Amino acid sequence: MSLTHSRRDFLRTGAAFGAAALAGGRELIGAPGQAPGTAGMRVVSSGNGLRATDKAMEMLRTGADPLDAVIAGVNIVENDPEDMSVGYGGLPNEDGVVELDASVMHGPTHSSGAVAAIQDIKNPSQVARLVMERSNHCLIVGEGALRFALAHGFKKEVLLTDKARELWLQWRENLSERDNWLPPQSKKFPGELQAYVMTYGTINCIALDAKGDLSGVTTTSGLSWKIAGRVGDSPIIGAGLYVDNAIGAAGSTGFGEANIQTLASYQIVQFLGQGMSPEQACLKMLERLADKVKLNPRLRRPDGRPNFGMNYYALNRKGEFGSASFTGPTQYAAHDGTKNALRPAAYLYKS
Ligand code: ASP
Repeated sequence: MSLTHSRRDFLRTGAAFGAAALAGGRELIGAPGQAPGTAGMRVVSSGNGLRATDKAMEMLRTGADPLDAVIAGVNIVENDPEDMSVGYGGLPNEDGVVELDASVMHGPTHSSGAVAAIQDIKNPSQVARLVMERSNHCLIVGEGALRFALAHGFKKEVLLTDKARELWLQWRENLSERDNWLPPQSKKFPGELQAYVMTYGTINCIALDAKGDLSGVTTTSGLSWKIAGRVGDSPIIGAGLYVDNAIGAAGSTGFGEANIQTLASYQIVQFLGQGMSPEQACLKMLERLADKVKLNPRLRRPDGRPNFGMNYYALNRKGEFGSASFTGPTQYAAHDGTKNALRPAAYLYKS
């Protein structure tokens, strides 16, 4: 495993923080209902989440619940057809149908809600919230999720934009030389489209309010061209999102199956609870995942590295936050109460 400077630098800071944290034990992290030691409000998100962190912080400043704040933040991205990894305009499954996954978790009440493979609803994060508040369930999928949304007044909308449809069509027409779908005479993808031959993306957003309460959301159209009905990690509590109000919050974007098999977000929060810094906890999880990948030839490159992307985001009750990716350099979005910016994430492998 080749470690970068970023990683080594982190190990130095991480070791110092770890020692302090261990000396103080869990006390250092704080207890629910108490204001965090240093902090104030924080919002952390994936690299596509700069508008979400801005919006969520604006709401936190008015005293909004942290879950309302992060949902309002990611709604901006769900509604944006230019982000083809989330909500309206998201890339469809292999049948050309947009299926969305989302989860929410509310720290103060340790409750969660999620929907998976939901069609025709632009803001699955809002439906996930309703599952949490207006049902006894944690996860509703497919047709049932749509009916639940309609029962609560959501309207069906066409989520497949022309751009997403054309990308899907080009993928479909170039999938095989031996079927009945024919690509245009020139078999070259236009440059812009080439990037979308196979792709994934998601938005995760986690927040800490002025009272020291945490919440989070993850919402996605999942892997492009997925098998219909495929559910990723985003709506699975513990995989694509986890919040423990006494410790911290974590979320993920990247190849979801790997997170489901390792309950990555839950594990990162446990690492936070052991006193690791958020960046250290994310890197530790990546190392653990890289070790598991060695057991599965389908998920590793010939040199043993994972053949997929993974990004983790974490925030503790003290207001410390960080992110790490398998491959870097990459960026994540964070609002520290003063400055909203894309910041460099730590990483295991240099791209
Ligand atoms: N985690 C998402 C999924 O597997 C995709 C992504 O984040 O890129 O559905």
